[in-house]
Amino acid sequence: MPEHHTPLIATIAVGLMLAFIFGLAAHRLRFSPLVGYLVAGIAIGPFTPGFIADQELANELAEIGVILLMFAVGLHFSLKDLMSVRAIAVPGAIAGIATATLLGTALAWSFGWPPGARLVFGLALSVASTVVLLRTLQERRLMETDRGHIAVGWVIVEDLAMVLALVLLPAIGPTIAAGTSLSPWQFGALVALTLAKVSAFVAIMLLAGRRVIPWVMHYAAHTGSRELFRLAVYAVALGVAFGAAQLFGVSFALGAFFAGMVMGESKLSQRATEEALPLRDAFAVLFFVSVGMLFDPHVLLRAPWAVLATLGIIVIGKPLVAMAIVRAFGHPMGTALTISASLAQIGEFSFILVGLGVTMGLLPPEGRDLVLAAAILSILLNPFLIAALERGRVRLLPRTILPSARKAPEPQRAEPEPASPPPAPASEPPAVTTLEGHEVVVGYGRVGSILGAGLAAAGHPFLVFEETDERMQAARGMGAEVVVGNAADPEVLAAANLAAARRLFVTIPDAFEAGQVIQQARALNPGLEILARAHSEEAVAHLTGLGATLAVMGEREIAHRMLEAALAEAPALSPAPEPAPPAAA
Ligand code: AMP
Repeated sequence: MPEHHTPLIATIAVGLMLAFIFGLAAHRLRFSPLVGYLVAGIAIGPFTPGFIADQELANELAEIGVILLMFAVGLHFSLKDLMSVRAIAVPGAIAGIATATLLGTALAWSFGWPPGARLVFGLALSVASTVVLLRTLQERRLMETDRGHIAVGWVIVEDLAMVLALVLLPAIGPTIAAGTSLSPWQFGALVALTLAKVSAFVAIMLLAGRRVIPWVMHYAAHTGSRELFRLAVYAVALGVAFGAAQLFGVSFALGAFFAGMVMGESKLSQRATEEALPLRDAFAVLFFVSVGMLFDPHVLLRAPWAVLATLGIIVIGKPLVAMAIVRAFGHPMGTALTISASLAQIGEFSFILVGLGVTMGLLPPEGRDLVLAAAILSILLNPFLIAALERGRVRLLPRTILPSARKAPEPQRAEPEPASPPPAPASEPPAVTTLEGHEVVVGYGRVGSILGAGLAAAGHPFLVFEETDERMQAARGMGAEVVVGNAADPEVLAAANLAAARRLFVTIPDAFEAGQVIQQARALNPGLEILARAHSEEAVAHLTGLGATLAVMGEREIAHRMLEAALAEAPALSPAPEPAPPAAA
């Protein structure tokens, strides 16, 4: 009976288990959990003793992670967003690819490799991993910012370029190896055919998909079955990605992105996102495990300098070019730093390219080992790089209006990042407020904005923590000091001078993060009044346990308000008197 030969289950089970254990350990050591996932991959890879997972299967599982990630990104991305970053993403990505390819080619030339090997090696160093980039943006919550949009647009252009490269390589590879060259006509025809197929796919998605997909989603939603709705989400995401790859030669990632973008136009996209998230996260973990499996530590001993030089191109050469381009387009230094740092890594495309190169006899196996080692090191280094840069970006925006009774909000600025003064350099610690006896509001969404309006009306000085550019502007308009960043991060929270504060409102919906904020705040100021938002009895217990003075459960207040309206006499059922909060994104 074959019942004990279950490589797929073994790969998923052992992969997730070890990823969890090492991820937890990494977290405790204050590393990104991603480091733990890679280590888990190395542990179940063929170069370390013990259980060896199936690499082919791991790669396919990783591909599902790529599909779901790109699908989720597409859900939040409109065609308008894509068009608005086109001007910088297209030239940026092309120049970035060209430079890194040239640098890589030069390095391969110094190794004495033939032209075909140089080209494959150079190309492999030129494209960033979509998964690593998206995860970074999500972890740092940059997805909804200008920087995030530019980075996503950039990676989509890179993705397109790689589709071309993967089609062209098998065609031109043999002729390069044979020392002859493809006629320009043949080359042009091949490029044209590939682009035509991609365009056909995009056209079909925008014309037919745009009608069919929302219709399917509404139909599924109206069945009233959650299971069927969920199924519809996965069927569309995976189905479109698979179809795009099979029929049009488009990458899974691009196919999934368009499926998401088209579905994102439907009113149900919020629900679709929620359904896609859990599976996406699990498979994204498997992506890193599968990458770790490729790592052969011996190459570090065999060719340390070559690995270092390759790594240098990825983490220094390419980012510098990206930074120069973003700056040249007039974006602030902070934006340039984030984008270039998030691109300072390579991943899945490089693995596919070097695999192809070796199979075709273009690239010596040593080239593949170098690229793999440098890729994994670049992915390992990436969270540290980003954290170092983002730390420098935490900044305090000064109060713009003195709090007074219901002043009209300041007109919003289109560019959320003031061009001057420039953001603090990466080494400088974030500014700390000079306020004392102030109130601090964490989160400026539906809850925080009503609090902010009330505090401003009462003339209380207050400071707001917010992550999205739009809501941050709203808080500034109310006269608040604003700290940009995740309040659960101790370095960010420090900017609030909580030791001297009077009251803290924790209005964010995530009980885990809220707990982290409360725990730190309580340690900084034992006498602080802490009011927190909760959505369940467990959350109330959790938050008060960590030191909240009062945790208000939203659902209970909703019920009370409904009852109040229902039991009161006639005119009670009129619209609520509160000022309208900013529309939820
Ligand atoms: P709402 O659920 O509408 O009250 O919105 C919550 C707000 O809190 C959103 O504007 C989020 O951007 C913001 N937010 C959520 N988590 C954090 C956090 N950890 N630090 C700062 N702001 C946050």
